[in-house]
Amino acid sequence: MSEGILAGVFHSEEIIPRLERLPFPQIRPDEVLVKLSGCGICHVDIVARDGKIPMPRPVVLGHEGSGYVERVGHAVTSVVAGDPVVLTGMTCGKCRSCLDGQPYNCWQKLPANFSGRRLDGSTALRGPEGDIGGHFFGQSSFSTYSVANERNVVKVRADAPVQLLGPLGCGVQTGAGAVFNLLKPRTGQSVTVFGGGGVGLSAVMAAVVAGAGPIVVIEPNEARRAVALELGATNVIDPAECEDVVASIRDLTEGGADKAFDTSGRLEMMTAAWQSLANGGSLVLVGSHTRDAALPIPVLGLVNRGITIHGGASGNRDPQEFIPYLIDLHMDGKFPFDRLISLYPFADLQCALEDHVNGKAIKPVLIM
Ligand code: ZN
Repeated sequence: MSEGILAGVFHSEEIIPRLERLPFPQIRPDEVLVKLSGCGICHVDIVARDGKIPMPRPVVLGHEGSGYVERVGHAVTSVVAGDPVVLTGMTCGKCRSCLDGQPYNCWQKLPANFSGRRLDGSTALRGPEGDIGGHFFGQSSFSTYSVANERNVVKVRADAPVQLLGPLGCGVQTGAGAVFNLLKPRTGQSVTVFGGGGVGLSAVMAAVVAGAGPIVVIEPNEARRAVALELGATNVIDPAECEDVVASIRDLTEGGADKAFDTSGRLEMMTAAWQSLANGGSLVLVGSHTRDAALPIPVLGLVNRGITIHGGASGNRDPQEFIPYLIDLHMDGKFPFDRLISLYPFADLQCALEDHVNGKAIKPVLIM
């Protein structure tokens, strides 16, 4: 411990992280120091790396960490040293959503997760030249240790593969939650999933658990379409080869899909997603490629067909319940999210980031 921590630091304007030794961080009474075992890489890391989320540099990114509690602040009651944990997004605990059991809709979620600072403006990380941004997603897990808050630490069962569990705290939870907690397909209802990355394929696994079908995945990457079929998708569509995605979906779903989920972040796909819904259908959106993208939707089209469009976030259920639920499903053999994972030693952080960008890996996970 006297050697400090090893962290991937992004300096001003740079997109290649430097692995640097930093002094051991001090934790506050409500915080938890976690010795990380693994950390997934997710699209939001790339967006932040590329400077599209305004955050002061230097900064440590990484937001799908898992590991074991090393030490807790004196006010922490839910975990103790040695507990296996998954880290998830930070929430304020004081706003109307947090008090109403909907932390995924926290009113402070942007500053709490994407400012590189705690909500009071401080950071736990220091370098030789001063403060280093941390607390990304309440964790900054491209590191051997993470300073998290009791609110975003989820204790998990001891027999689960802890080093693989980090993606459950963000991408997997988001995809599975869109299906389990928002779309809620009944047995035999049709589901379309636009985009077959980590989020979309997690939704496919959840749709299979729910007994939905047909399950149609729209994805340009051939390898990902193959994985979608292995995981239980009944049909796949290559949007680059398909002349009319909407008509193809209507054919496959006897007139229109009951449920649709967009993970592509592309307006043309979101448009196809809502156009191909059956009357009374629902669409969940979880992201957009550009900050101010807007979807032109004819009001009467929505009204006459009874369409619901819902913004999804972080699984749309309290992660303290939802992450253990997903782990139980996994341990019962019903939620094989580990099939999305490619492992990389922490020292290969840059390679893992690149393989996420170029599509070689669906879900890279760093092993600390
Ligand atoms: Zn809140």
